[in-house]
Amino acid sequence: MTDLDDSLLGERSADKPEEACGVFGLYAPEEEVAKLAYFGLYALQHRGQESAGIATFEGKKVHLHKDMGLVSQVFSESKLSELSGRLAVGHARYSTTGSSRVANAQPAVIPTRIGSLALAHNGNLVNTIELRQQLEKRGCDFVTTTDSEMIAVAIAQEVDSGKDWLEAAIAAFGYCKGAYSLVIGTPEGLIGARDPNGIRPLVIGVLDGETKRYVLASETCGLDIIGAEYLRDVRPGEIVQITESGMISKQWATSEARKLCVFEMIYFARPDSMVNEESLYTYRLRLGQQLAKENPVEADLVIGVPDSGVPAAIGFSQATGIAFGEGLIKNRYVGRTFIQPTQHMRELGIKMKLNPLKDVLMGKRLVIVDDSIVRGTTSRKIVQALRDAGAKEVHMRISSPPVTHPCFYGIDTDSQDQLIAATKSTAEIQAQIGVDSLAYLSWEGMLEATRQDPNSFCSACFTGDYPVAIPDSIKSSKLVLESSRS
Ligand code: SF4
Repeated sequence: MTDLDDSLLGERSADKPEEACGVFGLYAPEEEVAKLAYFGLYALQHRGQESAGIATFEGKKVHLHKDMGLVSQVFSESKLSELSGRLAVGHARYSTTGSSRVANAQPAVIPTRIGSLALAHNGNLVNTIELRQQLEKRGCDFVTTTDSEMIAVAIAQEVDSGKDWLEAAIAAFGYCKGAYSLVIGTPEGLIGARDPNGIRPLVIGVLDGETKRYVLASETCGLDIIGAEYLRDVRPGEIVQITESGMISKQWATSEARKLCVFEMIYFARPDSMVNEESLYTYRLRLGQQLAKENPVEADLVIGVPDSGVPAAIGFSQATGIAFGEGLIKNRYVGRTFIQPTQHMRELGIKMKLNPLKDVLMGKRLVIVDDSIVRGTTSRKIVQALRDAGAKEVHMRISSPPVTHPCFYGIDTDSQDQLIAATKSTAEIQAQIGVDSLAYLSWEGMLEATRQDPNSFCSACFTGDYPVAIPDSIKSSKLVLESSRS
């Protein structure tokens, strides 16, 4: 998502941590758990590229290595060989500038009376200020600025008050509001849990069909890479515990509706990951088909913005009969711009990212498909590059509705006034990015293409209808237009 990449580098203060992350857990006695966790994180690298970490458990002993950088930069063969044990917890993290330091890398390891816990978190709590005050009043100390540490400390405190691991985790979830998919290692076994709305994904797999060797991962692509078989999703409000006796499950919260982030479907998760027994690639094809139905245009060639716009572009081509082609070649190893936490690096990332194919584009009436526009700055640069390469007309089609509201649940979008669709009409955006026509997929079309209950998704960044209420204390940090209107 070209423009969300830009926008994901929004400002934030250190006491409101926000991240988009990949989590991985493995209970597999007699396997080289650290190596398997390494490959699992490798597959989840797209979810967070700023820091990575793995903790392994050998009885009560915890081995931990975490550092800034890509999974392949953080771990070497020799580092992995030091991480022995029968279970592993891994994390790949994205964060913004304020918490870009190794202390905030995960897993967070916290000691308790019955051994340490290691916690990896994907999501974002919305009540961090209250939670931190509450925990500090009870004498808890913090070494990081992350909400993930708060969850870990809250669980440790419940353990120290006499509860077992499951009871402690469930009690701690009672204080947490927002999005959290968690993988937690303990001396006893591995725990996986999701918030009552299941905003961020978490799946369960089994290794080699051996039911006592389980895997937890943010997406099914994290299972595939190590040959694990998908078993099922961790349900919203469910906690599972995996020990040498197998897996047990408790539905600790039942009242809330499922609200999976629809952006996971559109862009965030890898296209080869499965949701409801279907790859996201197939869903994204349907988004493109629906987009073509809603917003047809006469053209010679359909191209996608690599990589995330490509499946929808193919769908658009299928629905219209306009040829699909590659018009922009991605410099593969530059990385996605949103991973880079400085303005300087962001600018470099955009320049270095895409190269137009002049002979393909010359004289063509083009449809260019992308999955979203957030700020519009990158879109403008891409359109200019296409025109410089000789495109006669450039029609932009977006396979999601206009992004008008920020996310508070773990995707670090800009404040509302930076979102181009929050302040400008489609005609104004069309003029600003310099296209001959611009059209978005409708909200209804986006949800219809999921072929699932439309109420089972969070789509707040398109509607402002937040499934977990946003406290006033953090609302004004990003919902600046709404605050000034009220
Ligand atoms: S607000 Fe948008 S990005 Fe955030 S969880 Fe909801 S749908 Fe996803």
